[in-house]
Amino acid sequence: MRKRSWAEPYKIKMVEPVFMNSQKEREIYIKEAGYNTFLLKSKDVYIDLLTDSGTSAMSDRQWAGIMMGDEAYAGSANFYHMEEAIQTHYGYKYIIPTHQGRGAEHLISKILIKEGDYLPGNMYFTTTRLHQELAGGTFVDVIIDEAHDSESNFRFKGNISLEKLQKVIDEKGAENIPYVCMATTVNMAGGQPISLQNLKEVRNLTNKYGIRIVHDMTRVAENAYMIQQLEEGYADKSVAEIVLEICNLTDAATMSSKKDALVSIGGFLAMNDPDVFEQARNLVVVYEGLHTYGGMAGRDMEALAIGITESIHDDHIRARVGQVQYLGEKLLKAGVPIVNPIGTHGVFLDAKKFLPHLTQDQFPAQTLAAEIYLDSGVRTMERGIVSAGRNSETGEHNYPNLELVRLTIPRRVYTQAHMDVIAESVEYVYENREKITGMKMIFEPKYLRFFQARFEKI
Ligand SMILES: *Cc1c(COP(=O)(O)O)cnc(C)c1O
Repeated sequence: MRKRSWAEPYKIKMVEPVFMNSQKEREIYIKEAGYNTFLLKSKDVYIDLLTDSGTSAMSDRQWAGIMMGDEAYAGSANFYHMEEAIQTHYGYKYIIPTHQGRGAEHLISKILIKEGDYLPGNMYFTTTRLHQELAGGTFVDVIIDEAHDSESNFRFKGNISLEKLQKVIDEKGAENIPYVCMATTVNMAGGQPISLQNLKEVRNLTNKYGIRIVHDMTRVAENAYMIQQLEEGYADKSVAEIVLEICNLTDAATMSSKKDALVSIGGFLAMNDPDVFEQARNLVVVYEGLHTYGGMAGRDMEALAIGITESIHDDHIRARVGQVQYLGEKLLKAGVPIVNPIGTHGVFLDAKKFLPHLTQDQFPAQTLAAEIYLDSGVRTMERGIVSAGRNSETGEHNYPNLELVRLTIPRRVYTQAHMDVIAESVEYVYENREKITGMKMIFEPKYLRFFQARFEKI
C-alpha cells in the first residue's frame, strides 16, 4: 500500500501571531497566578494546551455563517438550521439550546434526578457530577477497572463494567436510578473511547429495568473515529454513520459544542421523550433563555450548525486525532510516562510516575503543569487531586488513582512544528525532574476548586 500521512485537510487563510516570553517573565507570571495555569493571562502563554474547549479554528464557511446571524429574540432562522443539523447528524428528536454543556447538565439533572437518587457513569466529569449532586443525587463510578490504570493498553477504556452497573442496580434499586450517564470518549480517563458493543450491552441491561441512558456527547465524533479504527465490523462505516448509531442507542444527550462541534460557545440538551422535552422547555427560559436561543446568539447557532456537519467528516477527524497521536508517540519514544493508549483530544502525562518523589497531597500534576509553563510558556492543565475535589460527606480530598497533566490540542489551530516544540519542552522538564519540589494549597474555592485555587512552593 502507498503510504499517506494525515496532513491537515485545509489550508491556512488567516493567522494570529503568538509570542514567546522570557524565563524571567514566566517566573513572575506563574507566581502571580498562584501556580495555577487557569489564572495565567492568555497573552503570557506561547502555546495554549489548557483545553480544547471553545479553542477550535472555525472554517471560512462558519465565519460566513456568523455574518448570517438572525438576531431575533424568538424563532431565529439559525435555530432551525441548528435543530436540523442535530436531528440529521445525531438523530435526537427534540433540541433545547443552552449556553454551553453545563447548562444542559443543569436542566437534565433538575428534571430527572430526585433527592437520594444514584447516577452511575463511566467516570465522573467535574461539572456533570456537580450538577447531579446539586440536584440531590450521588454519582457512582461504573467504568471498567482498566480506566484507572494508566499502563493498561486496553483500547476501549471508556467502557462501562456491566458487573459494576448490575451491582448498583441490585443495591440501590432501579427506581432510584433515573439514568446512566455514558460519555463518548472519557475526558477524565485520558480521552478514552467506549466501544459500540459495550454501549449495546449497557442498552440491553438498562432496557430490562427501564433506566434511561443520557449520553454526554461532547466528543462523540472522536469516539466514533476510534470505533472505526479499532472495533471489529466498523472499518467500512463512515464516522458520520457510527456517530448516528451511537446516538440512536441512547435516550437523551448533553452537548458542549465547544469541543467536537468546532465553535467557541454553545451547547444543547437533546432527547426523544416528549414529556422530558416539555419540562426542559419550561426550565430553559428560567436559566438559559428562550427555547429558540438558550443563551446563544443567532450567529453562534449558525456557526454551530455548520460546525456539526464539518466535525463528522472522516478527513477532519482523522487529521485531528492524527495530530494528537503524533505528539503522544513522540513523548512515548522519549520515555516520558503518559497515559496509554494515547487519547483522542490530548496527551495525558502521568504525574505520579513523572514526579515519584512527591506525595499526592503535594499536588504533583499541579506542580508539573507549572514547571512546563516555566520552561516554555506552554500552558497545560491539572487533572488529578485538585480537580477531584473533596468528598461531600467527609470533607477529605478525593484521592484519584490518576494524577494527570493534560496537554489538550485545540482543533485545526496548531501545526506539527508546534507539536515538536511541546515535546522538546516536556522532555526537558522530564530530564530535570529530580530538582522539582511540591506545593501547598493556600486558597481553596468551595466549588470546582481547580479553576481558582492558589498554591505556593514548599
Ligand atoms: C467540557 C465538558 C463538559 C461541560 O461542558 P461546558 O461547555 O464546559 O459547560 C461536560 N462533559 C465533558 C466530557 C466535557 O469535556
